Amino acid sequence: MSNDTTISEARRGVMTGLAVAGLASGLGGAASAANRDKDPAVTGGKTFFDPREAYPRAPFAVQDQPWPGLANKMIPRPDHGEKSYRGSGKLQGRKALITGGDSGIGRATAIAYAREGADIVINYLPQEESDAREVVSLLQGEGHKVFALPGDLRNENFCIQLVQEAAKRLGGLDILANIAGHQHYNESILTLSTADFDETLKTNVYAMFWLCKEALRIMPAGSAIINTASTQAYKPSAILLDYATSKAAIANFTRALAIQLAPNGIRVNAVAPGPFWTPLQVSGGQPSSAYTQFASGTPLKRPGQPIEISPVYVFLACAENSYVTGEVYGETGCAQIF
Ligand code: NAD
Ligand code: MG
Repeated sequence: MSNDTTISEARRGVMTGLAVAGLASGLGGAASAANRDKDPAVTGGKTFFDPREAYPRAPFAVQDQPWPGLANKMIPRPDHGEKSYRGSGKLQGRKALITGGDSGIGRATAIAYAREGADIVINYLPQEESDAREVVSLLQGEGHKVFALPGDLRNENFCIQLVQEAAKRLGGLDILANIAGHQHYNESILTLSTADFDETLKTNVYAMFWLCKEALRIMPAGSAIINTASTQAYKPSAILLDYATSKAAIANFTRALAIQLAPNGIRVNAVAPGPFWTPLQVSGGQPSSAYTQFASGTPLKRPGQPIEISPVYVFLACAENSYVTGEVYGETGCAQIF
């Protein structure tokens, strides 16, 4: 991996840009609904608000994008916590590699980890450079140390190089957050090709296997691996046969590896998100007929925003949660039980 893969490195300094959007008026009725639609960051660092009133909900506009999709083209744009996530030193001095760190859940995690004090490397596909640049310039502007290393995780050699290069840039590695994922809906097993199946399994399962394996050569005791499963691991959709298969594999890989690595002092957990508003959904993850009504049938009647789940990735990485290992931590808005 050459130096030209680096977008930027900035030394730690004074944090800026943490402007907080406040609630314009109370939380009731039309006023808050209007506010919510204008500014997805309606919660703006508040310590108390009604989860029913926060964030956008269906109907969403038709907005198909080519895979892998860009957060900067979504309407409304996902809330990754750019304006609202506040750190409190939970990951001070830590060194994290985050895949899928350009957008969605991975971007929210990158912002959270950096603001909690970690130095970070984000990985993403070259087509996502514009999203990655937003993350880097935001965090760089706040004085965080952040490296961007693009490349395709379906390639074993790239995965090995990525871990080695990340450890070189960071001076070690003690958090691996495997968040990259591929989801493409397909109505029938008869139209699901070997190449389709391969793409999903390579991205979601093999890359995790390769990255974990290489990272373990470097990570000291006390390190944390965080994988990304899904409610699809337990409650599969008919149109996500390959994806649901991969997510169930991730959940079991996580549990087995956690048992294997407990004697080494390395914790392994997974997050199992429910429906979250991210580029994956509008770039082939769901048909437009589904994403325009995304999560409207769930108990909270809206999808989650990436900012709502990044605290779980922080929790699982954090040394204070040293007894948490082998868990698959759901954050689903009750989506797993209805
Ligand atoms: P997203 O599109 O923002 O993130 C997925 C990322 O995966 C992309 O940004 C891309 O950088 C990365 N990626 C895909 N293929 C890659 C490849 N071959 N090489 C390198 N990087 C690659 O969407 P998201 O929803 O934030 O997805 C993050 C994770 O969350 C995924 O594992 C996804 O399966 C999981 N998840 C999402 C939802 C949801 O509703 N959004 C629900 C359950 C689980
Ligand atoms: Mg992306």
